Amino acid sequence: MKLPVIIPEIKSQSWSCRACTKCCRELVVHLTADDRRRIDEQGWSQKLGTDPYVRHSSGIVLNHVPGGGCVFLMDDGKCRIHADLGMQAKPLACQIYPFTLERESDSLRAGLRFDCPTVTRSEGVALASHRRDIQYVADTICKKTPALFRDEPDDVAFAHNLMIDRSTLDRILTRLDKWITNERRSFDERITGLHIIVSTLNQAQLSRFDGPRLAELIDMLSDDLPNAVVEFDDGSSDPLRTQTKLLHQAVFAHSMYLQFAESRMGYWQSLRFRFRQLKLARIMLGGKGVIPQLRPEEGKATFEQIINIEPIPTNDAAEAANLLTRYLQSRISNHGGFGAAYYDWPMLNGLGAALLSIAVIGWFTRRNAATAGRVEMTIQDLRDAVSTVDRTAGRAPELGAKSARLRQNHLTHENGLIRLIRRYRIL
Ligand code: SF4
Repeated sequence: MKLPVIIPEIKSQSWSCRACTKCCRELVVHLTADDRRRIDEQGWSQKLGTDPYVRHSSGIVLNHVPGGGCVFLMDDGKCRIHADLGMQAKPLACQIYPFTLERESDSLRAGLRFDCPTVTRSEGVALASHRRDIQYVADTICKKTPALFRDEPDDVAFAHNLMIDRSTLDRILTRLDKWITNERRSFDERITGLHIIVSTLNQAQLSRFDGPRLAELIDMLSDDLPNAVVEFDDGSSDPLRTQTKLLHQAVFAHSMYLQFAESRMGYWQSLRFRFRQLKLARIMLGGKGVIPQLRPEEGKATFEQIINIEPIPTNDAAEAANLLTRYLQSRISNHGGFGAAYYDWPMLNGLGAALLSIAVIGWFTRRNAATAGRVEMTIQDLRDAVSTVDRTAGRAPELGAKSARLRQNHLTHENGLIRLIRRYRIL
């Protein structure tokens, strides 16, 4: 089996690895059976004097040194396997990061992770320049571990009660992409327009539609968006108390990634860890006073402080809008926020989740500024916030749970999503 790779088409997005080692220090890298066989054949157990991989609750992962990064990370920041044996000797997940691969009909769609700092900065070469390397990894998986790419049906769930074919999906996504990337509109107008489409479709009786009629409805709504965003006035209201609570829940869920040491805790330690998480979740829900330290490395700030943080200064506004637009394109136009890449959620739920992510990014950006003792956010606060949110989006089990879908559905009513985006506005 050989499947051609579709490279992400994200306007003005570039990437090259700058060897910052963030991924080697922070990520838990899962290995395929073929990766393990290669590592064994390369004799790393003897060379390292420790286990190169260990068992983890969800499979076999690369080992880390105590309190540090991957066992293969050297003091000069290089990967030992790469340095000794070349790129293609490394585990596949390391070779392909920050790209991801999902099956789509007779192809594989490459996604892009925004938890790599070079992705958020869009530094390096055009994404298409990486085609050969990504295709090599895709071909290796197809040959050695084809079960990783399950067959995908040709139809796609648009809503829980409406399936559409891929050509209709493409037509809808092309239309949405045109609106999301329309630089003649402010970011606020574009996000408001997306909110109008999502909330209108949520209220429509979609079971009465078929694909072509849905695409016509979306065309019609999109044609009217320039007027609709001008007439839209509800969004200036503050979010309701329940809406803010739901946002705090989403923020908490986005903090729920396990670092290597946490994923290897013994029974009692893990029980204590979970107990602490429950306590933090309750404080987050309360939303008053000091924000709990969701990660040990975080500084202190209060919930009240983050409301009063000033948005991005004008000289960084264009870069901030560009980053958020690229992120939305990755979630929507490049299929990263629904279907196989996002908990098998229908596309409409995925659109709502992408909007909620913008509000969550706003919250984290403000929190980053407040914990650094500033009253104004910086572009780096925003980059870090996008990285935090994307690290968990589509990966943390809590964000794919039924409760997350109910939360997102609830917030599509009473303009919850846009109220939250504006309360925690970035631009
Ligand atoms: S986080 Fe990105 S830039 Fe840093 S080492 Fe990993 S791939 Fe390279």
